[in-house]
Amino acid sequence: MKLQEQFQIFRQKKKALLAANYYNLETCKGIILAANELKQPVILQLTKSSIDYIGLNTAVCIGKTISEEFGVNVWLHLDHCDEIGLVKKCLDAGFDSVMIDASDKPFDENIKITKEVVELAKKYGANVEAELGSVPKLGKELESDKFTKPEEAKAFVDETGVDALAIAIGSKHGFYKGEPKLDLDRLKDIRQLTDVNLVLHGGSGIPASTLKHAIELGIVKVNIATEIKDTFTKSLKNILTETEEIDLRKTFPEAIALVKKLVIEKLKIISI
Ligand SMILES: [Zn+2]
Repeated sequence: MKLQEQFQIFRQKKKALLAANYYNLETCKGIILAANELKQPVILQLTKSSIDYIGLNTAVCIGKTISEEFGVNVWLHLDHCDEIGLVKKCLDAGFDSVMIDASDKPFDENIKITKEVVELAKKYGANVEAELGSVPKLGKELESDKFTKPEEAKAFVDETGVDALAIAIGSKHGFYKGEPKLDLDRLKDIRQLTDVNLVLHGGSGIPASTLKHAIELGIVKVNIATEIKDTFTKSLKNILTETEEIDLRKTFPEAIALVKKLVIEKLKIISI
């Protein structure tokens, strides 16, 4: 099934797909084991940095092979890409979905670049996500004047024909200082004006009740990255300081198990 079709099914059920970033074989396995345990589909995401680190074909192979091995329904998605060249390489390598992020460009330029990617992706039947407004990147703070304007969202979607739209409603990448507050009225307005699949970036650290509320109001994809990195790295650090064990086949599985536990918790909030 195409990702675009799965979005429609989840929208009717008022559920969202979890889009989890992986960084290596171990984090990918943790995500897939969780999806397998709950019998849920999941989006596996890679950023340009992860592709540079793992290698494009190896990264695709890891994601597709592990999910096949465990019988999990996955879609491979390119997260935050600002180069059309890489979008094309990823589509050629078998990605099901791509994000073109021209959110730092002026409105008209964002439309132009997104339109180009929508046109390109048509040949592959791939899903295209764009961003309008600005969800702060790692280390940056929220600026409410960069939140997505509902009328602009409508114009952007009408003009580009994009499948999914990441919107800025108070979430940010990385950890939050204090409890995050989402502008749910803005989300409601955007949902009323457009029929596009709405995406929430910066899902790490957003309380379960807020996530559920946002999903009820129209979010259909929730991205989680920071908590996966954090869980894997911190647990591995703890394990390694407690033991002299050098066999990584004995130390890594505990860290994988904690990623699995985290993703199970997220899936229960978002998809079930
Ligand atoms: Zn993001």
